[in-house]
Amino acid sequence: MLSVVSIGPGSLDLLTERARARISSADVIMGNARYIELIREIIPKGSEVITGRMGTEVERAKKAVELGKHKNVVVVSGGDAGIYGMAGLVLEVIGDFNTDSKLEIIPGITAASAASALLGAPLSNDFAIVSLSDLLVPWSEIEKKLEGLAKTDIAVVIYNPKSKNRTVQLEKAYEIFMRFRDAKTIVGIVRNAEREGCEIEITALEDLPDSYHRIDMSTTVIIGCAGTKNLGGRMVTRRGYERKYNYDSGGGNTGNQGQEKRDYIEAGSRIWEKSKAIVGDIVSKYSGSLSEHERRVVERVVFANADPSFLDVLVFKHNPVEKGIRSIKDGKTLITDIEMVKAGINKKYKGKVKCFVNAPKAMEIAEKGDVTRTAAGVRLAKELIHDNIIVIGNSPSACLELFALIEQGIKPAIIVAAPVGFVNAAEAKEMILSSGIPCVVVKGARGGTPSAVAIINEMIEIAYQ
Ligand code: SAH
Repeated sequence: MLSVVSIGPGSLDLLTERARARISSADVIMGNARYIELIREIIPKGSEVITGRMGTEVERAKKAVELGKHKNVVVVSGGDAGIYGMAGLVLEVIGDFNTDSKLEIIPGITAASAASALLGAPLSNDFAIVSLSDLLVPWSEIEKKLEGLAKTDIAVVIYNPKSKNRTVQLEKAYEIFMRFRDAKTIVGIVRNAEREGCEIEITALEDLPDSYHRIDMSTTVIIGCAGTKNLGGRMVTRRGYERKYNYDSGGGNTGNQGQEKRDYIEAGSRIWEKSKAIVGDIVSKYSGSLSEHERRVVERVVFANADPSFLDVLVFKHNPVEKGIRSIKDGKTLITDIEMVKAGINKKYKGKVKCFVNAPKAMEIAEKGDVTRTAAGVRLAKELIHDNIIVIGNSPSACLELFALIEQGIKPAIIVAAPVGFVNAAEAKEMILSSGIPCVVVKGARGGTPSAVAIINEMIEIAYQ
């Protein structure tokens, strides 16, 4: 068995479990001496270690393929083995024949991810990776790619920026970017990410030459785009919310227009903070009988609806927030009445999220029993609802069906009841309040998906803090 194993940027706790397992059961471990050093402490005693210098990769790959026919051979590769790493080379050596050879490639954390995390989040939007190494690729080709990318408003990650013998490539790349990009474009430099001697710097494109002295073969350089900012010492690329919220009617995102747009976005984050403060203020006036966690849920609902009057209709019964947080931590299944509520559940949630409204069986039940589809969906979830979380954000009849199930002995762990409407909604919610089950209820005719989702998502937020 031959395994090409990615070992990540350096620190052993960024090694995947699978990589660790293969290394610990290897008969032979091959790799560049620097990478072998990085994993030295987890190399099993008795395994044969074969190191090689940079530039001897082809022979090493051939030998690995040969030995792999009879032994557990691990070829280690820094970062991700598939990104400028040994995986491609091993596959080329194997070629078309030998398709039955046992080979696996184990992915890992590439330098771009490691550097990005240390800088902030510079790769939150589209990006490209380019290697400046012209040992294997002619410089003219690399230059063409750099020009294309410099002209495009996209973040660019540079690998192999400079070595002892290759220093002009970075200077040329700098000139190309200065020709096409705003000189103030944010640039991040990370040397020895997740290794001893880690250095992080955020600078502007025009000042890059001042940092040449600290850039070497263990450095990754990230050139931002128009949406990239230095936010309190962190390099962050905006994802494009300014377009979604129509701050700017123009479509482009370059040059001065980009600058203007960035100012708008900054205003956007201030608006968010301000409205949070306003909501906090409103809720604090009513918070006498609320626990800290309940207060957070109330704030979230008021915030989501931009409506302080939710304070009058939001009710907590039988300590539902703490019960909900515990159920969330336990990864209980979350059942919703409609797809829109399901879609709104925070994607961080680790448990299952189910909705049966569109299940063919629900349609059948609805037709036969003359009940609504949402009620049929709840009936279908009967077994699942017990001891799990149910969130109703739309349908009073789903709420009535739930109450009927509770009367049959089904006991949800917690209920969020925020169905909306003039018919049955208020009554159905009163029934839930009388059921003895921990519940958060939006009383009366009001409610809806935004409220239901706000309630459960705040609990998820608290649970995962
Ligand atoms: N397969 C590797 C990349 C090999 S190319 C990966 O996925 O990360 C080698 C280049 O990667 C280096 O010249 C440097 O630019 C970058 N690099 C690798 N490890 C790094 C580290 N720990 N810190 C910063 N840059 C690193």
